[in-house]
Amino acid sequence: LMHLTRKLIEIRSMLISIDQSDALKLPSIVVIGSQSSGKSSVLEAIVGHEFLPKGNNMVTRRPIELTLIHTPRSNPNEPEEYGEFPHLGLGKITDFTKIQKTLTDLNLAVPASECVSNDPIELRIYSPRVPDLSLIDLPGYIQIASMDQPESLKEKIASLCDRYIREPNIILAVCAADVDLANSPALRTSRKVDPLGLRTIGVITKMDLVPPETGATILAGNRYPLHLGYVGVVCKASTKNSKESTGAIVQRQENEFFGAHRDHFGSTSSLMVGTNTLRKRLMEVLESSMASSLHGITNAVQLELEEAQYQFKVQYNDRRISAESYVAETIDALKGRFKDFTTQFRKPHVRAKLKEMLDEKVMDVLEQLYWTDKRVGELSTIAADPKVKPDDVEPYWKYKLEAASSLLTKSGVGRDSTLLVADGLRTLIDSIAAGEPFNHHPQAAERLIEFSHAILRDRIGVTSDQVENCIKPYKYEVEVEPREWELGRTGALELYEKEVVQCEEKLKEIRKRVGGSRRLNGLIGYVKELETKERDRKQRLLANPDAEGEEPIAAEDDYRYPPAQILDARHATMYGNRLNVLKLRLAALKSKRCKVGPESDALCPEAFLTVVADKLAYTATMFINIELLDQFFYQFPREIDSRLLYDLDRREIVEFARENPIVRRHLDLQERKDKLEEVMKQLNSLATLRPEVAQTPRRQ
Ligand code: GDP
Repeated sequence: LMHLTRKLIEIRSMLISIDQSDALKLPSIVVIGSQSSGKSSVLEAIVGHEFLPKGNNMVTRRPIELTLIHTPRSNPNEPEEYGEFPHLGLGKITDFTKIQKTLTDLNLAVPASECVSNDPIELRIYSPRVPDLSLIDLPGYIQIASMDQPESLKEKIASLCDRYIREPNIILAVCAADVDLANSPALRTSRKVDPLGLRTIGVITKMDLVPPETGATILAGNRYPLHLGYVGVVCKASTKNSKESTGAIVQRQENEFFGAHRDHFGSTSSLMVGTNTLRKRLMEVLESSMASSLHGITNAVQLELEEAQYQFKVQYNDRRISAESYVAETIDALKGRFKDFTTQFRKPHVRAKLKEMLDEKVMDVLEQLYWTDKRVGELSTIAADPKVKPDDVEPYWKYKLEAASSLLTKSGVGRDSTLLVADGLRTLIDSIAAGEPFNHHPQAAERLIEFSHAILRDRIGVTSDQVENCIKPYKYEVEVEPREWELGRTGALELYEKEVVQCEEKLKEIRKRVGGSRRLNGLIGYVKELETKERDRKQRLLANPDAEGEEPIAAEDDYRYPPAQILDARHATMYGNRLNVLKLRLAALKSKRCKVGPESDALCPEAFLTVVADKLAYTATMFINIELLDQFFYQFPREIDSRLLYDLDRREIVEFARENPIVRRHLDLQERKDKLEEVMKQLNSLATLRPEVAQTPRRQ
């Protein structure tokens, strides 16, 4: 019999951990009583120790879920009596004053403004001298509710209290013998939810303070009958000046008192008196209440379990996961994803990217040194003239080519190319960190970004120096093979053709914006006119500085077109001029002279510079690959192992996994199903223990 209650108490706490709703609830005993009714004294007498918070201002603010576990007296190495707060991880506490202190602290942790907290304190006490019982101490609620409190707070307290005194719980109503039962707040509260007194048990304290006949009349319970009866106790123990335990003192007092009044409370009276009797009575009551709840709870658990199993099958196809496996999978997936992406950083890809950047530079150099040179037309004319020998080319163009080449090779190729590739890596990592599943794990994502950036920072300096060093020879001399020349020439042609297309597009845009080519031509003509006027004015000024004041510019003329269109016209003129140059140069690049080979370099600087860009790209790629990419690809996966989720303990692993809502739902359902299965197993095992009460419906 004992075993059944114990098992059910265990099952009860498992059910509570599954969910807090009433559906899955086995009964517990809820203790209520007004201040000074002797409630603490009764609980401590049952436990045999002082352990509850004391003090004038001590109003309990959290329910205490007290589980008593009867332990056999056998093992001398184990502490005989101890308490445990299962959620605090303080271990076994053998000193009951420490339990008292802990309860006081937990209580005071609830701010006075909140007054009460819904969150129960769980306390287990193991002892050979306690029965298996599950009690809930709700001190304070009744007192607070009756104190001078705002209405809303009273409601909060009342609703809290109501939650606990609901079925199937048993109510232990503590009343002092010296207070008229009609005025007992505990009984009044219990009558509200249990008017027939079917699940209320009365405890009459302070029996020593009333004459025995009065006490006996109360216990007989004729005025306020309770189905579960009244038990009278005397338990004003104080261990302050005593070596005896609370249990022993109470025992002695009760023996003395009830012994002295055997005529009223003796075995013939059929009244229930004494703490021992109370313990036994509570056990019986809890036991039978649990037994009668068993059938219902088994059904309820079975239903919940079937639902959970069904959902688990439907949603997850019975696939089990664990926080650890999720972490491992996440890391593998991260490495896998990274590896897939690294193909973007193979040599040909990198070289193409760098070439693109260097081609831009080539065009910049050409623009700066050639396109804006007034003599650029001459250069094209020479190239078209078959009579001109390469040696006949003016030194002007030879120097120009040298300058262009050095502008290109000294433009910071090492730094720019290294940064370009590093930036590509950074963007890649950032996109991995922002995507699934790292979007659920902001801290891990941050760490991922942090250490990959650190690797990059570490390598950028070395790499760009190395690249710069290796392209150094090109700053002095570039030797071009005929085969390279031809590639350079066709490359330059392509670049120019692209540039032509771009210029034409720009012109088209402008034409559209200003309203057609006629209008644009008008604008361009007007701007030219303005420029001519301006030039003339300057020349006149130079000739005759004093004339300034007398020479107003044609003000009204300036406003003939809006300024934005004037700007468009200027741009259009620029693109038009550039198109002319480009077309001349395209013809030169296609000429026989240019096709001859590298000896025509001064006449075809575009081909030459494109070859230089090719060489720079090739060299830079080689060293970036060795110094940056190889290093990064080597270090990154190692950093993932050692720095991403490296020293997580079990709790942190679970927290990490639960950050992902999909995983959290999966884990929750799986855990719920597991717990329900375990409870069901336990409930089924009770069937063999007490077949007559534990008739569980079997549906398998
Ligand atoms: P609580 O406020 O309901 O928890 O009541 P306590 O257990 O703190 O008891 C209030 C006072 O009544 C304390 O001074 C106790 O010593 C005293 N008391 C409790 N039980 C008895 C009893 O059976 N007889 C006598 N004479 N005093 C008691």
